[in-house]
Amino acid sequence: MCIDLHIHSHFSDGTHTPAELIMKAKSANLSALALTDHDTVQGLDDFLAAAKIHDLPVVTGLEISSTFNNHSVHILGYGMDHRNESFVKWLKRLQEGREERNEKIIDKLRQLGIEISDSELKDLSRHGQTGRPHIARLLVQKGIAASRDDAFRLYLKKGAAAWTGRFTYSAEESIRMIHHAGGIAVLAHPGHISPPPQHLHDFIGKLVALGLDGLEAYYPGYTNQVRKSLRNIADRHKLVITGGSDYHGENKEYSKMAGKKSGFCPPDSLLPRLYEKLNIY
Ligand code: AMP
Ligand code: FE
Ligand code: FE
Ligand code: ZN
Repeated sequence: MCIDLHIHSHFSDGTHTPAELIMKAKSANLSALALTDHDTVQGLDDFLAAAKIHDLPVVTGLEISSTFNNHSVHILGYGMDHRNESFVKWLKRLQEGREERNEKIIDKLRQLGIEISDSELKDLSRHGQTGRPHIARLLVQKGIAASRDDAFRLYLKKGAAAWTGRFTYSAEESIRMIHHAGGIAVLAHPGHISPPPQHLHDFIGKLVALGLDGLEAYYPGYTNQVRKSLRNIADRHKLVITGGSDYHGENKEYSKMAGKKSGFCPPDSLLPRLYEKLNIY
């Protein structure tokens, strides 16, 4: 059976509620699920409640955009106490950074003659925090970009006309705080680090020295060869291996939840080692 340990809800930039994600996972016959919204744990109470009702094994999660050696790395946290006060407070700084950035992006777009109001943006993302995918959606709705990919390419991706950076923690800080809240830290989509480090193995080794616990070796599009080399690195460093679809609902083109039907299937044989690391028996 398949598992999916990387999905987003409308509390970040997905389009489904946590409960809808649980139901989708049930119909895809998944044997475990983790919700990993960007920089927020806001959706986890609903997620856990729905999982209980539908009797689906789940793990708490989140995905923190972080920086390491001038690279942008996404660190997944699993099994945290998502109500840990200092952790929740620490995450607030990231949410404020997003607010600051959204204002700057809107300003830059205005200078380009494109009007987006705060309220229409808030309306699109009223359940949680706002990210670039929401802005991309508005650009498509207004007919300014032909597709969301187009909106990123023309305006929102790094180096594009309205691109703006935002506050991020270092990978070291993210790993430390995930541990502080009782979780484990996993490197998300290691094949997508931007810019790609020349020596991924050494790069991961340095993250391991900072406390990294795992690698996401199952990710859509990763070939057997990529998977195998990530598995080798994981074995050498005694890391946990995880996998997930990065499903964003309608907010990301071509994204699908894991399952036999979608053809992307991180196997549930990964679970015992994950549970062991999380001290769940
Ligand atoms: P943010 O968290 O606001 O920086 O936005 C990052 C999110 O935007 C990612 O998680 C993806 O969902 C999406 N994204 C990033 N780059 C692109 C791109 N080039 N095309 C489409 N979506 C993207
Ligand atoms: Fe996203
Ligand atoms: Fe990511
Ligand atoms: Zn993600």
